[in-house]
Amino acid sequence: MTARPREGLRDMTPYVSPQLDVAARLNTNESPHPLPPGFFEELAKVVRDLPLHRYPDGAATRLREELGAVHGLPAAAVWAANGSNEVLQTLLLAYGGPERRAITFEPTYSLHGRLCWSTHTDRIRGGLPSDFVLGDPQIDEARAARPDIVFVCSPNNPTGNAQPIGAIRGLAEALPDALLIVDEAYAEFSDAPSATGLLGDLRNLAVVRTFSKAYAMAGARIGYALTSPAIVEDLGRVRLPYHLSALTQAAGICALHHRPAARALLASIRVERDRIAAELTTIPGCVVYPSDANFVLFVPPGDARELWRGLLDRGVLVRDMSDAVPNALRVTAGSEHETDLFLKALRECLPA
Ligand code: PMP
Repeated sequence: MTARPREGLRDMTPYVSPQLDVAARLNTNESPHPLPPGFFEELAKVVRDLPLHRYPDGAATRLREELGAVHGLPAAAVWAANGSNEVLQTLLLAYGGPERRAITFEPTYSLHGRLCWSTHTDRIRGGLPSDFVLGDPQIDEARAARPDIVFVCSPNNPTGNAQPIGAIRGLAEALPDALLIVDEAYAEFSDAPSATGLLGDLRNLAVVRTFSKAYAMAGARIGYALTSPAIVEDLGRVRLPYHLSALTQAAGICALHHRPAARALLASIRVERDRIAAELTTIPGCVVYPSDANFVLFVPPGDARELWRGLLDRGVLVRDMSDAVPNALRVTAGSEHETDLFLKALRECLPA
């Protein structure tokens, strides 16, 4: 006996990034910095007193209140879940589904399209221009597609650029009945204005953030959305009961208490990002894209796949982005030491 899978399921490849034990893991845009010791002491104290024999607060009220306080919003306008990926999935469960459609602007974070598939939401692939900057043509394209959901990623993964806030507002205004999701997983690395500034005017906007990058908490799996109370109520209609464990809620609250320490590390990550970009720019024939995030996308001279392999042979793991941008690699800005390892390996692979 074999169970008959959903049509097309076996054509899907699982979403996996290699997790290899190498000297420099620069392929998943994690923070290179461990959390400060005070964080673990506070968390251990809280965890000791958690009533784990009871279900957690299903509404994650305290975490949402504290997140709201950080962003100047009431808890009723905040949603939290297991990583921003789960926040995105919950938004699709509520606003996507059969007979509904979403538009993405490619190249962008591939999970947006995958989540459309898994929630049976039709996906229209819009396109970004050669500089990857969202503008009037994309607003026109979205208007013509009449989607129920519009995805924008800003700063965009894998290209790195933040999208103009005017274009984001333009999309929300052009499609007042659609849900506009702005994935801001990398916003803390950018000086560009955040779409959170539009929340007062727009009721069809959800700005999605994560603890995985700037908070150095990828292992804890916490993400959140800043949106309108009506959308938060809709998300409550499709979430799993007690979706956020008591341990996760406690870790999130604790991370917020240590936010100043996490923010202090952002500057050093940006220094490494800019150093990587500056060094890549000196390589003849290398195309480097400007980044507002904690990674840099570049098209090396020669074959990207070969360079990827050469870097890995030297203990440096980067991401092959050729599927999204022809012959492109994406490298995470990590510690100073990791940047040194990357640049040394790069010079060995691309002799002048
Ligand atoms: N959005 C974007 C644009 C990302 O690049 C990532 C991580 N790759 C995520 C969301 C997912 O983050 P999380 O760990 O919060 O699920």
